[in-house]
Formats: sequence, structure tokens, C-alpha cells
Amino acid sequence: MSKENHYQVIVIGSGPAGLTAAIYASRANLKVLVLEGLNSGGQLMITTDVENYPGFPEGIMGPDLMVAWREQAERFGSVLKQIDATQIDIKGGSPFRVTTDEMEYFGDALILATGASARWLGIESEQALMGYGVSACATCDGFFFQGKDLAVIGGGDTAMEEAGFLTRYANKVYIIHRRDELRASKIMGDRAIKNEKIDFIWDSVVEEVIGTKEEGVSGLRLKNLKTNEESVLEVQGMFLGIGHTPNSDLVKDFIDMDENGYIKADPGSTKTNIDGIFAAGDVRDHVYRQAVTAAGSGCMAAIDAERWLEARESAE
Ligand code: NDP
Repeated sequence: MSKENHYQVIVIGSGPAGLTAAIYASRANLKVLVLEGLNSGGQLMITTDVENYPGFPEGIMGPDLMVAWREQAERFGSVLKQIDATQIDIKGGSPFRVTTDEMEYFGDALILATGASARWLGIESEQALMGYGVSACATCDGFFFQGKDLAVIGGGDTAMEEAGFLTRYANKVYIIHRRDELRASKIMGDRAIKNEKIDFIWDSVVEEVIGTKEEGVSGLRLKNLKTNEESVLEVQGMFLGIGHTPNSDLVKDFIDMDENGYIKADPGSTKTNIDGIFAAGDVRDHVYRQAVTAAGSGCMAAIDAERWLEARESAE
């Protein structure tokens, strides 16, 4: 292990959680490396206007916010590398060996901030209109659809919650579910069924999102799986509510997780089951999933890591 590839803190991930952790850790005079990942910046990179991040009264574009965040981390000395961490070796404890395609790095403490990915249907038109009427976050984008007709895809709690939230703005919300039975909890399903602004379209899937980047979404081509009948539903927005996948594969062999793959941390802290490894942001949070909450937990992880390093040093 040479000095150059040895850092006091290695942050894995470069969304709001990872970059906030980097800002705090480098401002605490720690030597910090951020392994940003090949797709750096996290979920805000696929968002257009961000209007709910405090401090930007006019809003800010998601990618612009991440550029500023990155610059702020670099200003205090964080080293940022746009590469994926491919393996972590925790044998023998700290320093932990982190392998990338480029080289190996060693971190006295690790902050896992690899985020979560919204599940998408995977159809071409959905990808093309992402951020132009197609979204996976009602809290982030609902406000832009005042008085519109919208569709929410999914039959779980996320879809029910997103649909309910969207009725604050929308004229009508259609929940499109591929079966005729909800996966959602009874209470959340019943609430959606009782909501006069919500209609259900059962046994149906989206075959195509109709629209252009210039004009936004104008409709969805649907297929009823029982009758094979096709139809067009006129809506101006489509929200995915088919779940999120935490990006926790890298650490699945040694970090404690819940049954959905979210990293478990001590309540009120960012400590994982491995001494010296901390977790922040959406990879450990399936409830709030906001940039501001991810940033908050990134700050907590940096403080936890700093204190852990300090305690270790004074014990030596
Ligand atoms: P779930 O996995 O529970 O539900 C996903 C839904 O999306 C299912 O109805 C599923 O259909 C559907 N779906 C999945 N893939 C596709 C696809 N390719 N095409 C069409 N439909 C698809 O995920 P959620 O995000 O809803 O919930 C995750 C966890 O978080 C749950 O434990 C939930 O209870 C919890 N949660 C709790 C909330 C709360 O309490 N306030 C709010 C939100 C989530 P099918 O049913 O046919 O499989």
C-alpha cells in the first residue's frame, strides 16, 4: 500500500449523499477520495428542474446542482474519480481495500453512498421522454403538472402514495396496474380507491409513451393483458411507481441489509455492522429518498467517520 492510493476516507457514490460526505470530510482536513462511479451524480442527473432543494428560490437543473456540488467537494481537497468500485475487501479490517478497473485504493474508513435506482419499464419511448413528462418521483415533479391528467404505473404502496400525492395538483390520476389485485397494503389501497380523483385501469401495461421532448407527453398506448385489446389513454405525464432497487450489490456479502437490499445502519447514525464502514443516502433509506435527506445523511456519515477515525487514533 503506497501513500498515494491510501486515503483516510473513501466515499463510494457521488449523488447528494456522497458529495456532501466528501465536503464535510475534506473540510475536516481528512484525505478523501470519491469513487464517483461511471454514471456520476446520481438520480439528480436524470431530473430537470429541482425546485425543492433549499437555497434555490428559482429552482435549479438537477445536473447543474450536481456540478456545483462536485466543485464544492473539490474545493476542499476531495479527489474525485469517475470510476466504479468493483470490489471491496474487508478482511483484516481497516484499511479496507477497494478495487477499481484502474487500480486499488485503501481507505481507513468507507462511506457507502451508492444510492438507489428507480425501476423503469424499459421501453424506448419511456427512456426518451424521461424528464419530459416521464418521472419516477412525484414529490420532485408533481408540481409541474397542475390541472393535468396523469398516469401512475404500479400496484404497490409507492404507486398508491405517488397517486395520492399527485391528486394535489392533477385533474385526474389513473393508476395502471398489470394485475387486477393490488400489492399495496389494504389501508393505502383503500385510500386510493376512495379518492375521487383516482381511477384504476386494471390488467394493463404501457406499450408506448406518446409525445415529444418539445411538447411533453400526450398519451400512453396501453394493452389489456386479459383481452389483448389496445387503447390510447390521454395523459400529460407518466409516473413510475414500480419500486426502487438499492445499489448495494457491491457489499452484499458482508454488510447487513434488510430483505429488499437496503443497508441497515444503527438508528440515528450511519454506522453499519462493520466497524469503520458507514452508509448514507438512498442505499439505506427507502422512506424519504430526497436529495436533501440524502445530503443530511451524507453529512452525518462524514461526522461519524471523522469521530471514528479520531477515537481510533487516540486509542493507539
Ligand atoms: P413493490 O415491489 O411493493 O410494488 C411494485 C409494484 O409495481 C407491484 O404492484 C408490481 O406489480 C408493479 N411492477 C413491478 N414491475 C413492474 C413492471 N415491469 N411493469 C408493471 N408493473 C410492475 O414496490 P413499492 O415501491 O411499492 O414498495 C416497496 C416497499 O416499500 C414495500 O415494502 C412498501 O410497503 C414500502 N412502502 C411503504 C410506504 C408507506 O408505508 N408509506 C410507501 C412506499 C413504499 P405486481 O403486483 O404484479 O408484482
